[in-house]
Amino acid sequence: WNTLHTPITEPKVDGLVRPGDKLAGSSRACFLCLVRNEDLEEIIGSIQELEEQFNRDFNYPYVFLNDGEFTEDFKNAIRKALPKDRNIEFGNVAPSLWDLPPNINEEEFKEHMKKLGGIQHADQLSYHNMCRFYSKSFYHHPLLKKYKYTWRVEPGVHFYCKIEYDVFQFMQMNDKIYGYVLNLYDSPESIETLWTKTLSFLREHPYYLNENCAHEWIRDNVQKPNNYEITHGYSTCHFWTNFEIMDMDWLREPAYEAYMEYLDSQKGFYYERWGDAPVRSLALALFADRRRIHWFRDVAYSHFPYTNCPACPEDSDRCNGDCRPGFFVPWDNLEVENCQATWIKYIMDQKDLDMY
Ligand code: GDP
Ligand code: MN
Repeated sequence: WNTLHTPITEPKVDGLVRPGDKLAGSSRACFLCLVRNEDLEEIIGSIQELEEQFNRDFNYPYVFLNDGEFTEDFKNAIRKALPKDRNIEFGNVAPSLWDLPPNINEEEFKEHMKKLGGIQHADQLSYHNMCRFYSKSFYHHPLLKKYKYTWRVEPGVHFYCKIEYDVFQFMQMNDKIYGYVLNLYDSPESIETLWTKTLSFLREHPYYLNENCAHEWIRDNVQKPNNYEITHGYSTCHFWTNFEIMDMDWLREPAYEAYMEYLDSQKGFYYERWGDAPVRSLALALFADRRRIHWFRDVAYSHFPYTNCPACPEDSDRCNGDCRPGFFVPWDNLEVENCQATWIKYIMDQKDLDMY
């Protein structure tokens, strides 16, 4: 625990790639922004902070995706908001990857959503489309095929501190497939059958289970016994996917792909409100080696209503002073919606802790 209160500016590993180094900016990586035209102002806020704190030194490209058409005004405003030499691509999501799939009946969808009335976004068809797209399709998009890594960026988020090393190179050199900042509990009513269906998948494909997986993190029932009961065995702990740095080659492997096909056939993206966050998190917690998942504790990040503010050394000018802890500082508060303590307790070993 003490380790986690010590100031941190970056992981304590050898070989971090600095601005100006030969390898800086050389990963096959991009930022990914799925947005609508009306998100313009908020996404500009996000990418300008990201440029300021990180990317002006690394020059990674951007991919903007939309289920509708981006207007010329939108594209021009984005180009204007970013440095001139930034590579920026705009793309559409094919209806086949976005719209209600053939196995879903719209009337039945509406019936189910009446029952899920209290759950956030449950009555919004577009939100279900988005969750399915961010679970099973985005990494097949033609504009993303040439990339290995992507860093997901949402409208209206904040970055408060400089990141003075190439995070994609860090992922590559340390064999990481997934990076997150915040780790939360989910509303169990949105994923009532996700765990039992995942178990059916595992019974059919036991060979996908990784022997070094993070199963304790998704199975712990101590902090939220009620969640565990509603989901029949899933803690609901999940990586908060509005920030995520992913190795898409891992998603493109048979385990993840087969799991996505199976979940899609089980209809829970529409007849329940499965989020891409619990779906991705279960896949990672079962099929991946836990040591390939990295907590970017040093990244000062906020997406309403939660914020991660790393403790910085007293004399550090790395942070701009705007970082205010949100509802929690993730490694302090053992209650409410924070699940990081569970990750630390079961999953992190001494080697992980030494990195901080
Ligand atoms: P929340 O963070 O769970 O409240 O969900 P958001 O509304 O932030 O949506 C998650 C991401 O998907 C954000 O990047 C949104 O811009 C994007 N998104 C959500 N719904 C749509 C949609 O209907 N069309 C498009 N193009 N993007 C969407
Ligand atoms: Mn969001």
